[in-house]
Amino acid sequence: MATLSRLAEVPVSEIKWLGPKNSAPLVKAGIVTVADLLHHVPRTYIDRRDKPRLDRVPLDSEVTIVAEVKKINTRRPKKLSITEATVADETASLNVVWFNQPFRQKSLPVGTEAAFSGKVTSRNGRLQMASPVVEVLGDDEESIVTGRIVPVHPQVGSLKPWVILRAVRSALNRARPIPDPVPAEMLARKGLIGRDQAFSDIHFPESLDRVDPARDRLVYDEFFRLELSLALQKRRQMEDATGFAHTPSGELAGGFIEGLPYELTGAQRTVLDEIDTDLREPHPMHRLLQGEVGSGKTVVAVAALLSGMEGGWQGAIMAPTEVLAVQHYLGVTGLLAQAGLSPEPFAAPSELGMDSLFGSDGPAVHIGILTGSTAAANYRPDASRAELLADVASGQVDILVGTHALIQEGVEFHRLGVAVVDEQHRFGVSQRVMLKEKADAIDPDLLIMTATPIPRTLSMTLYGDLDVSIIDEMPPGRTPVETKVLSRLEEAQAWKRIEEEVGAGRQAFVVCPLVEDSPKVEAASATAEHERLSALMPDLRVGLIHGQLRPMEKEAVMSAFRAGEIDVLVATTVIEVGIDIPNATVMVIEDADRFGLSQLHQLRGRVGRGMDPGLCLLISDPASEDAGERLAAMSATTDGFVLAQEDLRIRGQGTVFGARQSGVADLKLADLLRDLDLLTAARNDAFAIVDRDPGLTDHPELAEEVRAILGESVEWLFKS
Ligand code: ADP
Ligand code: MG
Repeated sequence: MATLSRLAEVPVSEIKWLGPKNSAPLVKAGIVTVADLLHHVPRTYIDRRDKPRLDRVPLDSEVTIVAEVKKINTRRPKKLSITEATVADETASLNVVWFNQPFRQKSLPVGTEAAFSGKVTSRNGRLQMASPVVEVLGDDEESIVTGRIVPVHPQVGSLKPWVILRAVRSALNRARPIPDPVPAEMLARKGLIGRDQAFSDIHFPESLDRVDPARDRLVYDEFFRLELSLALQKRRQMEDATGFAHTPSGELAGGFIEGLPYELTGAQRTVLDEIDTDLREPHPMHRLLQGEVGSGKTVVAVAALLSGMEGGWQGAIMAPTEVLAVQHYLGVTGLLAQAGLSPEPFAAPSELGMDSLFGSDGPAVHIGILTGSTAAANYRPDASRAELLADVASGQVDILVGTHALIQEGVEFHRLGVAVVDEQHRFGVSQRVMLKEKADAIDPDLLIMTATPIPRTLSMTLYGDLDVSIIDEMPPGRTPVETKVLSRLEEAQAWKRIEEEVGAGRQAFVVCPLVEDSPKVEAASATAEHERLSALMPDLRVGLIHGQLRPMEKEAVMSAFRAGEIDVLVATTVIEVGIDIPNATVMVIEDADRFGLSQLHQLRGRVGRGMDPGLCLLISDPASEDAGERLAAMSATTDGFVLAQEDLRIRGQGTVFGARQSGVADLKLADLLRDLDLLTAARNDAFAIVDRDPGLTDHPELAEEVRAILGESVEWLFKS
């Protein structure tokens, strides 16, 4: 009898059948402990009851067949010994040969039934097997292969399947019964079987209908451990944090929203309410705001920052790139100007083209921008970097926009109350934490925005410690972007469409092929494409942007494009995230099959942001089935959640963004697409337990297990 936590400490080399030589390939494949081995579950099962044997045996691969010895003899030419046997089942016979194993003669007398494991080859129409491993089948009930259902484990390196089979059997025999730490009432509610039974049934089921319930139970356990760690993490964040209960008066935020030239959508209002509730709570907000590009997240974020300002707190917006930081700065200053909340020098012109009458009367929001290369402010056009930093420290700056420069040495806020992190997936969790630490007295409320739609199962696992808000409604009047796939031979149609749109006063993007892991090569190919297209469309002004340009050069190109001085922008994926040019209506993506679905979706979000309908042309001759499926999905829908779900289906969960840094990597059996119900149940159960027993002191076995299986990454949860 051994708990799973205990088994997670026992190296596989201690299993009787393995030893150092055979355990090396296992360890290399990540199967380090006995617990790991028990989670290496069969990929399929062979039901011996209806599988005929020798006459259908696959050639040249490792198999185990059961047969009776019909004939056996040993020759001794020179110093060798060669033992040859004929064995047969009801369907065919097989020649077996061993070299220098004369003992076989004795151990396999005619009439013996045995399991022979090795490779079957066919020579001159005769089936042969050389030097098989043999297991004599007697009355031994423990025999592995005589069971009517034979598990087939996934191959590990060069290890013979029977080695794995034996090792699993031996480990199970030693470990069982495996105690069950999950409260019985939780299992009963879901109709889940016991843990010990589950391990036994998944590896050596007595009948095939025992497999699914066993799998369900083990999947539940994987989710349960992960969700327990997330629940603990969330609890920890709450307890460690010194929050602040904001008391928004609505003065600034309300005025801002009224000043907008449009009504908020229902979804935006709902999310604003959720944020408002969080702000009023004494513990800090940890909220993920998901919404399609253009769904109006930024407006919501600015309202949240203004709510904080109402109580005298500063706000910050952190963006992943210079270009995006600049764009946010321009966007936020523009929005505030529209609402009459700008300081004097930048007061908004009214729609009649005159200066706003109210610009200088009302409250003014001071916004600064700080990136590696830029320091500026809307109330102090000539601010130097040092002056800006001094103003941030003294509280003169209300909202500071920037890149990760915000979290570097030398930036001190006076009173940081609300922090917004845009496009979370470009930042790691540690950067989130560093931003929080910029506010020393209290932990600011944190809003993380992402335009990457994440299927619900993933947000429950990747971002399980965050509360999630979703803007699932687009502002009215947007027509979805139309998407078409063109073959390379048809590319002329794309350039023609670009010329038409530019003729009508609009702009276009041409996205160059992705060159994985080589920004240099990618930049070179974009440069070449820029030359080619300039020649193809001589009447248009064609610009170029790629990742090898300096930040200032990039920003110069973007502002020329924004100002309409460039008609067609040839670009690499540097434009993937957040770029907002409402006048751009066409996007051509070259070799579109090289991109992943979520990336294509992000790119496509760059067009159709204004009132004019957008068009996305995917040039591609897809080389694989997956690629074809991705492009078909792109033309079929513009719903990012549907695409994200498709992406997960096509690519599998291991490749999903962030999977490696999170507990998702520890999921060996669970399937995020298929197992939503189990995940939901496990999450509810885990959070309920932690609610009642925050330190898991009443559930020491569970605490031990989370620790033992999820490893060092959760160790901090248990330190006080
Ligand atoms: P996101 O940050 O989600 O990509 P933004 O906040 O940048 O979206 O909004 C995209 C555009 O839509 C902006 O020009 C913004 O002013 C506008 N917008 C936002 N909310 C609304 C709304 N409710 N109705 C009309 N336009 C809106
Ligand atoms: Mg945005």
